[in-house]
Amino acid sequence: MSKNIVYLVGSGPGDPGLITVKGLECIKKADVIIYDYLVNTSLLKKARDDAELIYVGKQGSKHTMEQEDINRLIVNKAGENKIVTRLKGGDPYVFGRGGEEAIFLKENNIPFEVIPGITAAIATPAYAGIPVTHRSYTSTFGLITGHEDPTKDQSEIDWEKISTGVGTLTFYMGIKNLPNIVEQLIKHGRSKDTPVAVIRWGTTPAQKTVTGTLSNIVEKTKDIKPPAITIVGEVVKLRNELNWFETKPLFSNTIIVTRSRDQASEFSEKLADLGANVLEFPTINIINPDNFDPLDKELKRLESTDWIIFTSVNGVESFFNRLLDLGGDIRDLKGVKICAIGPATAEKVKEFHIRVDCQPPKYVAESVVEVFKKIEDLKGKQILMPRADIARSYLPEELQKLGADVVDIIAYKTVAASNGDDTILEKLKNGMVDIVTFTSSSTVRNFVKIVGKDNLTAFKEKVQFASIGPITTKTAEEMDIEVSIKADEYTIPGLVKAIVEGIS
Ligand code: SAH
Repeated sequence: MSKNIVYLVGSGPGDPGLITVKGLECIKKADVIIYDYLVNTSLLKKARDDAELIYVGKQGSKHTMEQEDINRLIVNKAGENKIVTRLKGGDPYVFGRGGEEAIFLKENNIPFEVIPGITAAIATPAYAGIPVTHRSYTSTFGLITGHEDPTKDQSEIDWEKISTGVGTLTFYMGIKNLPNIVEQLIKHGRSKDTPVAVIRWGTTPAQKTVTGTLSNIVEKTKDIKPPAITIVGEVVKLRNELNWFETKPLFSNTIIVTRSRDQASEFSEKLADLGANVLEFPTINIINPDNFDPLDKELKRLESTDWIIFTSVNGVESFFNRLLDLGGDIRDLKGVKICAIGPATAEKVKEFHIRVDCQPPKYVAESVVEVFKKIEDLKGKQILMPRADIARSYLPEELQKLGADVVDIIAYKTVAASNGDDTILEKLKNGMVDIVTFTSSSTVRNFVKIVGKDNLTAFKEKVQFASIGPITTKTAEEMDIEVSIKADEYTIPGLVKAIVEGIS
């Protein structure tokens, strides 16, 4: 069956969450994705593993590929009987040359669909606290190219009409040309006191907004580079009241998350929700133990186990995955009591439809010991602890002192991620990172291993370090890293809270 089709998809203005549901579906099902400069590349993570990803540039006038070649590429790929998603910044039909691509597809008899996106003129003012229309200020709103060659004799833009005929004016691609735009507007009757906002990289953590009036905006935006959009009109005043995005607690702060890639997302999302620019720099990978025999042996004699103590989400996952792999299921745990050291671990246990019998008030091994002292005489009790290869010996030793028979099993291994991202290391060295977060002792050790001791010395004064709990902090301090942000509650939400309070 022929499947060749091209989806002309608008990816939205920058915040990856602003793509449409349908647009995302087109990314997920594409054989080939052809994308532009303004597309947030994190959206490409949603593509199939075997999808071909082709970057065709387009940064201002520096086109990586000529438009004709792009048209040809799209047609050729679709001609190979492929699903092609042509991904563009904002909306494909708003100053995106989507119209030209669609016509070329039509001429070549390639079926296509258009999935609109949120265009910059709507999204970026919204994120800068500016509603593009408001009944008290304006009932008209125009989208204008600011790219027009100022030396052109005959302008395509009727400055006479738009200068006073339209309330809110938005100019795309107009940064270089801003002096000319301002001059034309004033010359054609717009008051020089009209408020203006210039928004760069709108809807992203790098968003920067400069406001002024037609008389001073050119001077004030001398250092602003593309991509930026210019908004002219009385509605710009509303920013004073409605600036919700740039006032988020972590806005414009760059924070490194060192957890394993599998585990990073919850933490990263929480930080990003608070406005942070999150860089994932996984320092560890979670892998299977070298030998499953010890765990398998325990899984076969669960009927004689009294307690299982889980000290990490990974421990829960590896335990249950192995149980299921061996043909068992949760019925094998009948009569076994479960202790989970922290709320995330308990949550993971619940995902397997098992109630947690014991959860200590503090999320450290010491607290588990205290709780057991109170709730149960452990003499002769069989306790299983499926843990990491590098876990502390404190807990099994203390429980053993209370008379328990503890089997401490390696259920998973934590290994250093093989290499770091060089661009992140550069950012650290250049002082472009505000906080490095550690969520376990192994993230500290492996972070130091990956960046190297010399580099660490070079940048450590330029960043703040944040730690999830006392053991992690101790490991950091042993490696000469001063931790200035320490979670009071030893969980991811606890760490996020400490970061908001402790950022300087
Ligand atoms: N099709 C896109 C526009 C492409 S033209 C859309 O619908 O948004 C490129 C211009 O769009 C840039 O020069 C800039 O003026 C504007 N633009 C796009 N994304 C932007 C962003 N995140 N912040 C500010 N301006 C942006």
